[in-house]
Amino acid sequence: MDLERYPFSEAVKKNFLLNEREFRQRKTVLESYPIKIYVEPTQKCQLNCITCDFSRRSEKDDMSLEMFGRIERDLFSHVAEVNFYFVGEPALAKDIRKMISVSEKYTFLPKIFINANHLPDDLAELFVRLGFFVNVSFDASTKEAFERIRRESNFESILANIRKLQAAQARIGSPRFHLRLACTIGQYNIEEAPRIVRLAASMGLRDVMFGAYDSGAELEPGRSLGLDIERTVRCFKEAKAIADREKIRFSCPAQFGAMLIMPNNNWRDFPLPIDRFAPFELEGANPFKGDCGYPWIEMGVRSNGQIVSCCQRVHEMGSYARESFHDVWNNARYRELRRQKSFYQCLGRECAMAVYSIWSGGTKRPAPRKAAKAPAEKGRRGGRRSGL
Ligand code: SF4
Repeated sequence: MDLERYPFSEAVKKNFLLNEREFRQRKTVLESYPIKIYVEPTQKCQLNCITCDFSRRSEKDDMSLEMFGRIERDLFSHVAEVNFYFVGEPALAKDIRKMISVSEKYTFLPKIFINANHLPDDLAELFVRLGFFVNVSFDASTKEAFERIRRESNFESILANIRKLQAAQARIGSPRFHLRLACTIGQYNIEEAPRIVRLAASMGLRDVMFGAYDSGAELEPGRSLGLDIERTVRCFKEAKAIADREKIRFSCPAQFGAMLIMPNNNWRDFPLPIDRFAPFELEGANPFKGDCGYPWIEMGVRSNGQIVSCCQRVHEMGSYARESFHDVWNNARYRELRRQKSFYQCLGRECAMAVYSIWSGGTKRPAPRKAAKAPAEKGRRGGRRSGL
């Protein structure tokens, strides 16, 4: 991997390469740090989306600055990407400005997901000035459809806040700032996929990512993309054709049942300014056909200190409330996680991402250690893709 063209510090480049090597070797005890981390400023949210799993955001208190400072000291000099979100709406965290501002001291790619209902002018300006990769959660193209899914949101406010970010970028001209629509798609809004891409084009947005609905818990019957595979594939293909024509960056899940959408992204078809800061390899080890790179490349810390293995947030590996990164990263549970030969059942729980094979398809990846037998297709669940 050629990291020289990216403005990462030497420590980050060294860690990136070492982590990649240790992943390829499937080491269970790592010298490297993760290459991307999630830090959850808050679990609070003002919305009541039909896709949300409320059990995952029951913590009332925001992450303390004291805990955030310990995470910063342990990890920020080594990682290539910090995601300042997990569950909840990070713009509501009382210390969000202080937290994101520390990114100025480091060379990692700072990334965030927001619902964009609440975006004060100063925060929008800060995202732009700090060169954030901002994902706006965006699940439909019309007010009626949007507010039916993202209940208690306001479609007009969201569009206005997207324009606010665009205007700030036009004023400031931050080289790294990037804006993307991040869309969660199920049977309830699959027909919206091409319409969202059209809307993005009309607003001058250059990036749309589609992830399959998967709350991480049991799904509501009737919502899974897998229930109507032909319709799903037709809509994503139509959305991609529009994106290709409009030169909008696009990605969607790669496989539904036996049907493939290949290529399922157009990342390499045309460059965007963000490409100078975000190697595609940051996405290179997503779960695919029973294999998973997350136990090597990423770690998440929730607002209460709970350390989780990945964006699925189901495996608790330790706690920043009583431990540090160094106590946890190679502990017995992490070693057990990395020793697994197949990830269809990850630490005893079915992982929708590994089962439903949603590899982005755009990057080179190591061969799985051993062919693992996939569980029978239930046609019930989709998979969720983590954000680039
Ligand atoms: S739960 Fe899924 S995504 Fe997370 S580490 Fe296990 S296989 Fe990977």
